[in-house]
Amino acid sequence: MNAGPLLRLDSVNKVFPGGSVGLDSISLSIERGEFLSLLGPSGCGKTTTLRIIAGFEVPTSGRVLLDGKDITPLRPFDRPVNTVFQDYALFPNMNVQENIAFGLTLRGMSGRDRARKVKEALELVGLPDRAKAQIGSLSGGQRQRVALARALVCEPQLLLLDEPLSALDASLREHMQNELKRLQKELGTTFVMVTHDQTEALSISDRIAVMNKGHIEQIADPATLYDRPASKFVAGFIGTTNLLPGVFLQREPTGIRFQVAGDWRPVVTGSTELAAMAGTRLTIAIRPEDIVQMRKGDPDTFLGEISSIAFHGHSLRLLVKLGSSSLWVDVPRDRVETDIREGAVIALGLRAGACCPLLAA
Ligand code: ATP
Repeated sequence: MNAGPLLRLDSVNKVFPGGSVGLDSISLSIERGEFLSLLGPSGCGKTTTLRIIAGFEVPTSGRVLLDGKDITPLRPFDRPVNTVFQDYALFPNMNVQENIAFGLTLRGMSGRDRARKVKEALELVGLPDRAKAQIGSLSGGQRQRVALARALVCEPQLLLLDEPLSALDASLREHMQNELKRLQKELGTTFVMVTHDQTEALSISDRIAVMNKGHIEQIADPATLYDRPASKFVAGFIGTTNLLPGVFLQREPTGIRFQVAGDWRPVVTGSTELAAMAGTRLTIAIRPEDIVQMRKGDPDTFLGEISSIAFHGHSLRLLVKLGSSSLWVDVPRDRVETDIREGAVIALGLRAGACCPLLAA
């Protein structure tokens, strides 16, 4: 086994017949035992990337390396890679254990070893009693588990998952997210999952590659993507954020005064990198939870008018009008200072380090 990354995509391009560009020079390394998600809007190239790794699609140029070996010319079946498809692709004419045993039979495994492996796989996914069940009698979540067992039983070096939970309802989906993560950590298998659901990607992945128009915008762990998005696209795609174009004015005792387009001039604090940015035009990103309700008259507060209120469980999400711009603001329900209602004027302030100034205007 090599010491380097398990999988590497090296300047992979894909142009489809007819000229549509699927991937535009994707380079990416995936470590052993890592759970990496490919996240992005419809048409950004997630599935094409997965299909190229699996061998169902041939890149127009570039290479796919597994364990340091160039596998670009290999057919899907010759790669130590398995895929769980969005629709599970189970064989409806076979029962659960026959579905799971299928890949082992193809590999010529003997009856007793095969039966043992199938039993272990069923226990792993929590279905030890359903070996003889017909696929048609299973629920969506159970089918999902059979598809996982069928892919994992062959002990692939790499498991690819194409929107594996998209057919499940919200509560089962959350449960299966935990199950997927548990399985992955227990087995130590490297997982690459395609999803367009940012909450799912953030809660399940070690790292996330955010894709846009055939390229990778940023690849990082969930907290870095959330706290330090590298572009406006990433900031807007991961969670809700306020993107405010403006200019840094001058240093003040408590931070740097920032002039937002319009008339809001908050003092923002943060790392020393901010101090070097006086006079620079850029966009700052501020998360709704980093804007806090203050008392009117407190220093460094600003006033806005509440235009709408949405119930978000432990907090209220307000849309607050500030001159010509509007801000999303989350107010924890147990920390509401005054009456919150549409049309009311509210005093707001920024948490220390609330602003991410890394985005070009
Ligand atoms: P979705 O979330 O909708 O599945 P995606 O991010 O997986 O989208 P891809 O399916 O990888 O996106 O498609 C990337 C781009 O390549 C899109 O513009 C798509 O139209 C194009 N594309 C994908 N497959 C083909 C094909 N077989 N022929 C022509 N164009 C294709």
